[in-house]
Amino acid sequence: MPFVESLRCRECARTYPVEALHVCEFCFGPLEVAYDYDAIRSSISREKIAAGPPTIWRYADLLPASAEDPVDLGAGFTPLVRADRLAAELGLGELWLKNDTLNPTGSFKDRVVSVALTKARDLGFKVAACASTGNLANSVAAHAARAGMESIVFIPSDLEQGKIVTTAIYGGRLIAIDGTYDDVNRLCAELTSEQPTWAFVNVNVRPYYAEGSKTLAFEVAEQLGWQAPDHVVVPIASGSQLTKVHKGFNELYHVGLLDEEPHVRVSGAQAEGCSPVAVAFAEDTDIIRPQRPKTIAKSLAIGNPADGFYALDVVRKSGGAIGSVTDDEIVEGIRLLARTEGIFAETAGGTTIATLVKLAASGVVRPDERVVAYITGHGLKTIEAVSAVAQPTATIAPTLDAFNAAVGLPS
Ligand SMILES: *Cc1c(COP(=O)(O)O)cnc(C)c1O
Ligand SMILES: [Zn+2]
Repeated sequence: MPFVESLRCRECARTYPVEALHVCEFCFGPLEVAYDYDAIRSSISREKIAAGPPTIWRYADLLPASAEDPVDLGAGFTPLVRADRLAAELGLGELWLKNDTLNPTGSFKDRVVSVALTKARDLGFKVAACASTGNLANSVAAHAARAGMESIVFIPSDLEQGKIVTTAIYGGRLIAIDGTYDDVNRLCAELTSEQPTWAFVNVNVRPYYAEGSKTLAFEVAEQLGWQAPDHVVVPIASGSQLTKVHKGFNELYHVGLLDEEPHVRVSGAQAEGCSPVAVAFAEDTDIIRPQRPKTIAKSLAIGNPADGFYALDVVRKSGGAIGSVTDDEIVEGIRLLARTEGIFAETAGGTTIATLVKLAASGVVRPDERVVAYITGHGLKTIEAVSAVAQPTATIAPTLDAFNAAVGLPS
């Protein structure tokens, strides 16, 4: 926090005080946290980071909230695992998986929520709120409980049981809305002005929340021995995570933690049933046409993505691509990852892997690249997506004969 200078408009660069603000009053551009990078450069070092906690808070110098007393369930510093078996199936070389299924509530959202609620509490908020496609609700409810804050979270009513139950259990208020995420988000935007004492993590404290995703880049670089990968594949819902992963690698270089300037190609993954950014990429336009989502990848089902334009820009400028995959391909992606690497991902992870399969086949992701795929949520949250294809091999009577018959052994 000592290194935050202001909030700054991404479009017109006007600056604002470090408060619960998210849009520019002049041009309606989104606000972003601005840092004093010179001061960070003289404070930060690889050694200091290595001596920090095994969580996102080891990178506190590059985050907009104080690590003194964070709202913390242990988010971050998840394993980066080499995936040789999956790489072989895809004809790739050096492939790594950032296994963010292992966060406290089972998704990467714990990173952004830990930062957002720490900042919200510092700003004096006592109520944590959000509009969510599921994982954010889950994480906000858990972190609010941890912080002794009230929570009120809003979700589309058709979410998976694994997201509803794992949110409601923390005892906050969970409001299910008959509508899409975009309907939920619109209501929350209205509520933000009605309820100025609530911290909506993805609305009025969004600039702080979004910064938490940079830790996905910081950790990968540290885990690769302070090197950036050549190519990353990131799922897109609002597009925030993707843009911040890119920003994270560049920041490390600017503050002197990487020796070489990174040139990370950034590719995005969407479900065909909600692919507004992938469509704009394919049509080579800057105009993102909102869609009405219809996909099993509910955590990615944002039809009108707030950061879609910036995500497109990052992907194009970095030389990546954005792919989209069908629901059947998502299920196959989940199975492929589980079968080859022992990681069970939710539908967002299936989307990322299935997109990686396509990008590898088309030569966008190349065998000579060091590739990192971000696996952002745990499979136990979306059991219904795969329950039809993941059942017992056989159900038998408790006898040797029955077993032998079932597995084709002589009796
Ligand atoms: C929210 C979410 C994303 C995408 O996040 P954005 O920053 O909105 O693009 C990816 N994976 C999972 C599992 C998520 O819950
Ligand atoms: Zn502006």
